[in-house]
Amino acid sequence: MDKILELKNISYAYDKINAIENINLDILDNDFLAIIGPNGGGKSTLLKIILNLLKPKSGKVIKHIKNDMIGYVPQNTNLNTDFPITALEVVLMGHIGGKKQFFGYSKEQIACAMGSLEQVSMKEFANNKISDLSGGQRQRVFIARALCANPKLMLLDEPTASIDVKGQRDIYELLKKLNETITVVVVSHDISVLLNYAKNVAHINKNLVYHHLKNNDKKEYQNNEHLCEVELLSALGKTELCCNHTHI
Ligand code: ADP
Ligand code: MG
Repeated sequence: MDKILELKNISYAYDKINAIENINLDILDNDFLAIIGPNGGGKSTLLKIILNLLKPKSGKVIKHIKNDMIGYVPQNTNLNTDFPITALEVVLMGHIGGKKQFFGYSKEQIACAMGSLEQVSMKEFANNKISDLSGGQRQRVFIARALCANPKLMLLDEPTASIDVKGQRDIYELLKKLNETITVVVVSHDISVLLNYAKNVAHINKNLVYHHLKNNDKKEYQNNEHLCEVELLSALGKTELCCNHTHI
């Protein structure tokens, strides 16, 4: 399978404390990669390095796609939901670098934004205030915003945190559909849900351990609702276990 992105010996430190160390990772075209690991393990830092939002202290990022082909749904997009803005306006904000006309957005931009909302089944909520949407609906709007860039690679940082189980499944089903044409990388703690969807798993706790998920692994663990990261990793044969785990 073709690689669309390669991380070579990446390290990053905020001040003097290393957030990630010597990370090597290939992201394959059409992968559905789950990134798991304890809080503070360096997951968000890694995504920001891929996005060029942070510059690695050492190592190299090799991209086989252009930067503007990467869509991003940041962590904690549920903050600031009181802001009086409609779902359509949130999606339109995804046209970064796109020409904004003096009196608003162009017809093409609005049509594109409506198309993105349709892709996430939120078209009929286009003119609703985001404060009136459920957490899951709001997250789908943020996914639509990232889709405006027409990405080849979509990075999502804990998109299902603080969303109910039904809303989580809706989001993963949506990501599964998007994965037919887009490579998906998702940071998540929802291990048992994730196992139904992920093709590969990367565990990050400063260092990275990569697991290819075989179908047998999935069958065995996907019905275990209380599976936690520690159990999953020990089941997959990782010997050095992480701390700080919580049952979901
Ligand atoms: P995760 O997303 O896995 O929870 P992060 O990548 O956010 O982890 O954080 C990795 C480490 O870097 C943590 O120890 C965190 O406290 C630290 N860190 C993250 N962001 C900053 C920042 N802006 N300034 C200083 N330290 C940070
Ligand atoms: Mg994070």
